[in-house]
Amino acid sequence: MNIILLGPPGAGKGTQAKMIEEKFGLVQLSTGDMLRAAVAEGTEIGKKAKGIMERGDLVPDDIVVSIIADRIDEDDCQDGFVLDGFPRNAAQAQALDVMLAEKGIGLQHVIEMKVDADVLVERITGRYTCGSCGAGYHDIYKPVAKDGVCDNCGSEDLKRRPDDTAETVRSRLEVYSRETEPLLPYYGEKAILRQVDGMAAMDAVAQSINSILAA
Ligand code: AMP
Repeated sequence: MNIILLGPPGAGKGTQAKMIEEKFGLVQLSTGDMLRAAVAEGTEIGKKAKGIMERGDLVPDDIVVSIIADRIDEDDCQDGFVLDGFPRNAAQAQALDVMLAEKGIGLQHVIEMKVDADVLVERITGRYTCGSCGAGYHDIYKPVAKDGVCDNCGSEDLKRRPDDTAETVRSRLEVYSRETEPLLPYYGEKAILRQVDGMAAMDAVAQSINSILAA
């Protein structure tokens, strides 16, 4: 089974993709994570992407399309994957259709995580993660018990994404409504679009997604 999670930045796509990975064995394919890894490693792609990501703009389509095309050929993706953060515009959605058709791969569900725009800035600007174990936290909703220390593994390497600032979040949200939201009718016409309430508690969202995937 291959699925797409669609929703604005801060909707909880990454969290849910990880839960789907654990429960259904579908590999999480996050173009954001892959690009951040390229930036951290200082590869050619990383050098091109760094400034664009810091501004909250979209990295060129040819870069993300070829990253995804290569990645879904790998062995671990053969039993299914969850696309998280891809496609983000019409050109990427069309490239994905062509790629899947060429590889003879189907797309079963596109799940939209619906979230009120006014909570997103607070959700995003408050979030941080442990650089060592990946646990996620939030200044207001889920702070660490002891300042500066990860509850899960005790590491002091707590990090914020450089693009999680109030200013960049606003441009990421604008890019979402201009470029990505128009994909909803595109997948709606293919009759594979489903919706979940992304405002619900994390476990309740996971439950709604589970019912779609288990049906
Ligand atoms: P994310 O982690 O999904 O919020 O992505 C972080 C940033 O990476 C985005 O703001 C873009 O600059 C870049 N990015 C991630 N996925 C894509 C994509 N599919 N197309 C273009 N840029 C992307």
